[in-house]
Amino acid sequence: MRRGKVFELFESIQGEGIYQGIRQVFVRFYGCNLNHCRFCDTTLEGYKEFRAEDLVKEINSYQKPFHSVSLTGGEPLLQKDFLKELLVLLKQRGLRTYLETNGILASELSELIDEVDIIAMDVKLPSSTGLGSFWPEHKRFLEVACGKDAFIKTVICNSTREEDIHRALEIISDFNLPLVLQPNSFELGEALRDKLREFQKICLGSLSDVRIIPQLHKLIGVR
Ligand code: SF4
Repeated sequence: MRRGKVFELFESIQGEGIYQGIRQVFVRFYGCNLNHCRFCDTTLEGYKEFRAEDLVKEINSYQKPFHSVSLTGGEPLLQKDFLKELLVLLKQRGLRTYLETNGILASELSELIDEVDIIAMDVKLPSSTGLGSFWPEHKRFLEVACGKDAFIKTVICNSTREEDIHRALEIISDFNLPLVLQPNSFELGEALRDKLREFQKICLGSLSDVRIIPQLHKLIGVR
């Protein structure tokens, strides 16, 4: 029987993106396909294995109401078969789902796209992450995700270069999705604020909905 690897399960508020502030149950999946974004604040030390039915029971035991179940990581799409099973069961019980993903694994997404309600997708800028670029992967991912309730989030650091913003816009401006510029919480300050304002103006030249949104859970001190 298939089992999923889950690092932790908890309830809190969504701290990022356009759904900021809603109450959710979070399932943090073990494992990530990127190693390791410079601003990453997630440590995944070990996991517990769950059958999908048992995980749904645990999720259902949280006090209601909550807006949705956040499936986060790491990268949840690394466990696509288990994730699909879980999504189907959650839908059967009338629970909405919110997938947080680094926006790289397009073919995995395509296998479960019909089951997921909301997609919060990262675009990884090389000058922010300190890693290589994923432009073709992000483009393919957007082609799969664009018919859904989806938005794009990208982390802006002191190191983020304007040329990466232009490169990202070449890809995402073909899709009519909101874009969130999220400041790196470890670097909040005057320099980053000015950069965010400048990048927002640039992005508004190609997109109609561009928002600067910091991580709320860190500002108010919740998980
Ligand atoms: S994709 Fe997310 S979880 Fe993985 S290393 Fe980057 S920030 Fe961390």
